[in-house]
Amino acid sequence: MILFSSDRFIEHETPNGHPEQAARGQVMSEVSRKWRETGGAVESPRRATREELARVHSGDYIDQIAETAGRRFRLDADTYTSADSYDIALHAAGAAVGTVEHSLGRGGAAMAFVRPPGHHAERDRAMGFCLFNSVAVAAAAARAAGCERVAVIDYDVHHGNGTQWMFYDDPGVLYASLHQFPFYPGTGSVTDTGRGVGTGFTLNVPLEAGAGDADYDLAMREVVIPVVRAFGPHLILLSAGYDAHAEDPLGGMKLSTAGYATMTAHVQQLADTCCEGRLAAVTEGGYDLTVLEECLSLTVKQFARGTPVFGSEIVGDTDRASRVIPAVQRALEPQWPMVFG
Ligand SMILES: [Zn+2]
Repeated sequence: MILFSSDRFIEHETPNGHPEQAARGQVMSEVSRKWRETGGAVESPRRATREELARVHSGDYIDQIAETAGRRFRLDADTYTSADSYDIALHAAGAAVGTVEHSLGRGGAAMAFVRPPGHHAERDRAMGFCLFNSVAVAAAAARAAGCERVAVIDYDVHHGNGTQWMFYDDPGVLYASLHQFPFYPGTGSVTDTGRGVGTGFTLNVPLEAGAGDADYDLAMREVVIPVVRAFGPHLILLSAGYDAHAEDPLGGMKLSTAGYATMTAHVQQLADTCCEGRLAAVTEGGYDLTVLEECLSLTVKQFARGTPVFGSEIVGDTDRASRVIPAVQRALEPQWPMVFG
């Protein structure tokens, strides 16, 4: 297990009161400092190259973000840059690529603590606090390195529209998201399953607000795990957003810290069974600073242990998951008859 982290991520500034605040970067640096003190491996990320970015972003868009260097810009309703944001976003994408290089090279798990988040950034559009789509850049790097199949699992409370559209017609990248719905950004319905030869390689589990540990656990076991197993990825990427936690100020979900531990353990166990533990996680959202600290520490510790650590017994009802799972199964059954038929 290696952690990619840098104090540089504190320097991406957003306006006062913005939830994606510099203090999140301080939490990341603090968790990483403690991790290093207990003997954990921490590496400084490099910048992603233009070639790496251009696998998922248009050249014009990369230029547009590059031109924000040294200035403050508002790119959409809630997405801002400060003087160093372009360079910091390059490091965020570079950290994500670093996790893939580590995981493919030395094996095992790796994690990148980064700001700004990335999964809302589209091919040619900044959106939802995101500049470059770091996890997508990492998935494309894995494909370029020869991985035939890469799975991206996204447990951020928001749907990762950017990641979905970037690989929507690509059967080499399976995108699986559990998210609050209806909610920002509005995409991620059950029937978004991919396009053309990519049909069946996008898996959305849209959950009503209020879903908790048992809902997420059931959705993982009934839908995400069986499809990812059948897909047989060479590497699993995790869009690690912690804003589905009950304490999060933006999300309306009820996951506990133990519930997140269980979700992470499911993903780690999947990586163990499908791809010899090759797992690369990249942070996304998570706006309660205490929760962020808890969940980041826990995830790093779980990855380092080598064996998945499930949270304490899952409690709560599964009403919200049960209402949507049959529709998800129906939507994916044509492509995965051996799973759902
Ligand atoms: Zn989010």
